Amino acid sequence: MVVRGEAPLAQAAIRRSNLSRMLWDLHLVGPQSRSDLATKLQLNRSTVASLVGELAERGFVWEHGQRGIPAGPGRPSPVVELRSDGPAVVAVELATDWISAAIIGFGGNVMVASRRDHSLASSDPNDIVGQLHEIVASLLLRLRRQTPLISMGVSVPGAVRAEDGYLHHAPNLGWRDVPLGDMIRGRFGDLAIPVYVGNDADLAAAAEHIRGAGLGADDFICLWGEGGIGAGFVVAGHSLTGSAGYAGEVGHLMVDPNGALCHCGSRGCWEAQVGEEALLRRSGRDPLGGVGAVTDLLAAADKGDETALAALAESGRWLGIGIAGLVNVFNPTRVALGGLYARIYPYVKDAVVRELDTRAMPAPRAMVELTTVLLGPFTLLLGAAELALAPALQNPMIVPLTASGVRVEDATRRRPQDRPDRTGTARFPATT
Ligand SMILES: [Zn+2]
Repeated sequence: MVVRGEAPLAQAAIRRSNLSRMLWDLHLVGPQSRSDLATKLQLNRSTVASLVGELAERGFVWEHGQRGIPAGPGRPSPVVELRSDGPAVVAVELATDWISAAIIGFGGNVMVASRRDHSLASSDPNDIVGQLHEIVASLLLRLRRQTPLISMGVSVPGAVRAEDGYLHHAPNLGWRDVPLGDMIRGRFGDLAIPVYVGNDADLAAAAEHIRGAGLGADDFICLWGEGGIGAGFVVAGHSLTGSAGYAGEVGHLMVDPNGALCHCGSRGCWEAQVGEEALLRRSGRDPLGGVGAVTDLLAAADKGDETALAALAESGRWLGIGIAGLVNVFNPTRVALGGLYARIYPYVKDAVVRELDTRAMPAPRAMVELTTVLLGPFTLLLGAAELALAPALQNPMIVPLTASGVRVEDATRRRPQDRPDRTGTARFPATT
């Protein structure tokens, strides 16, 4: 028996799925012709035309002719491209030593970005959320065109409940049991957009997997941390989150039963051996000296300072011990180091590789490549943007139809300097 309304429902689900697949492909790959999209998505030309029309009406894409030839009958298949002023999200990075924020569109299009440098250690979360509101307000003023904001994504260095953004513990900020998602939603009530909060290492892995060091690697680990260390895992192409979003706290794997006390209350955690405090303590510097003290340590190492080099080698040894364990458990093809670990990697690479060669099992060891993240200062902002863009990528129909319908855009209005730079040389404009 056919239930009335069943067929239209199924058709709507198929259309939503096709819109999602097309938007995902443009988000990942960039501009491409209608005929290429039809081949890749295995859809007929009229379906592709209809789907492109709907994505255009919702403000996601525009079309233009190939090599400047206007689209029209008898011409080559038009090129479908994401609009540079299409729907966008607010992306936020709360780090130990800075707050950064950006407005980012589909395709990783960074429209405007700003960073305010100061320590967040032992800060008041209410004060930080207030500062964040000021930073975002100034970013919105710098947007040159009306860009519909659809959501906000926030990266934080701690254990976050995915459902509502409740932050259980961010040891390096000194924050415990902070309803961060609710606080941000309350302060940003004027924007009336959904707010999602995620763990920094998970978001780094998401961004690097689709645009950076993890591109093409279906089994990928991104190690990330400034004060501590966490990991984001991609397993068989999918993020490993755990049941509530807490997975990846590798910093609290116990590596030495008699080791140093850890912020988490345990003893001998990996983080207590490889974290910033351990590195600075070994070098005879103030363990709480932060990013400035690490810069000083690396400058000393550059001059051949033996204490600095020995401290780095010991941290590298522990880094390699932990990575070897992860390689044995997860069999990744690529492991990327970010944050503090990307900065020290050139100094600790030999020690890391030595431990990996010694301790990882030969077969998974032979398959894994060690590298550093590629998205420079934008890794976490792009990761936070992915978190915020995900619902619209899943269902593009949640973005309303625009009143003006299809608009023609002049491609020369793009600002290449605002785009992320895979070499990591992109810079933030002066903070406001
Ligand atoms: Zn711990």
